[in-house]
Amino acid sequence: MEQLPVQMFDVAARAFRPALLHLEGDRCLGVEHRTRGESEYYLTPGFIDSHAHVYPGATDLGIPADRIGLSTGVHLVVDAGSAGSASFPCFRDYVVPSYQVEVRAFLNISRIGLITKQPYYDRRNLDLQAAVQCLRGDRSGLLLGIKVLSSGLIVEDAGMEPMRMAIEAGQALGCPVMAHLVEGPPPNGETMALMRAGDIITHAFHGAPNLAANQKAGTGPNPKYCSLDNVMWNADGTPTPPLEAALARGVLLDVGHGAASLDQGVARAAIGAGVRNFSISTDAHIRNVDTVVHSLPYTMSKFLALGMTLAEVTASVTLIPARQLGLADWCGDLGQRATLFRVRPKTPEDPPFLDAYGIEIPAGQVIEPVAVVRKGRFTALSPI
Ligand SMILES: [Zn+2]
Repeated sequence: MEQLPVQMFDVAARAFRPALLHLEGDRCLGVEHRTRGESEYYLTPGFIDSHAHVYPGATDLGIPADRIGLSTGVHLVVDAGSAGSASFPCFRDYVVPSYQVEVRAFLNISRIGLITKQPYYDRRNLDLQAAVQCLRGDRSGLLLGIKVLSSGLIVEDAGMEPMRMAIEAGQALGCPVMAHLVEGPPPNGETMALMRAGDIITHAFHGAPNLAANQKAGTGPNPKYCSLDNVMWNADGTPTPPLEAALARGVLLDVGHGAASLDQGVARAAIGAGVRNFSISTDAHIRNVDTVVHSLPYTMSKFLALGMTLAEVTASVTLIPARQLGLADWCGDLGQRATLFRVRPKTPEDPPFLDAYGIEIPAGQVIEPVAVVRKGRFTALSPI
């Protein structure tokens, strides 16, 4: 029998407490509280990446889920709308079973999902009944809700139609809608007004309207996409009135870092103003994973640098997404499912902490996963 002293995440207190992890070979025998003790290792419920794209080959930007899965301490990867009703059966029957990491998904309101980045270009793919039937008829347990992308570069002339249809599907099914809100039109004030308690705004700290983003997206400084209607946070980090009203109704927030959706100034101000109740996710896909995003722990490290505590960052990849996604038992027995990590100083060999606009976040410390516990089995990712 081996004993590993750890700092264990106490979910109720949202704080770390000393504990002993009992191991026998690769079997985890349980976790025992202690009154005192030091350790460089932190034991938490399994990390959840609540927004990524893991339907490679059949979509514009998918990556294999295991690329951002257990090897990075992530136990659950949530695919955000890669599949629509027409492409979901292949995702469910052939792609997901090939992964080791657990996967759940939001179904795109477009039948074709993210086969292209313009899933609503042909309005015939906006098919409410097809989405409702797909979700209602699915017995896999994979689907958590509906995904809609409601920003100018994606909806083009479809305007509010995808958003309205997604909400209608969510109402019919009694499930949440995850809405990608970045640049307008349509104005975020209009889209947020439709969102219900339990719906999720992803890309919560986007910087649009932001000329840099539009230039990066190849649209140039196009005033069409620079409407002030799309500002979600005031400069002091407080929510603008439409977002404030949505949050008061119970609308939820997700980071969805991605290639164009984390503005460090916006995030730092909101965190400085006390905003904490959001999930941290990567929005990892083929065009950002090796350059900006890297992994969920790396994204978490950026939020440490932006002013959150280690316990707050931990809650944002465990407790908070579990609640948002309705995964009631996720944070239960850490002897069955857990992530073990340490925090070390950032070195010149580490990639820079870039936000989605390519600006470096001064930092800091790096959260480094060192082991996972899965189904009671302990697997080291690096020497302990
Ligand atoms: Zn995404």
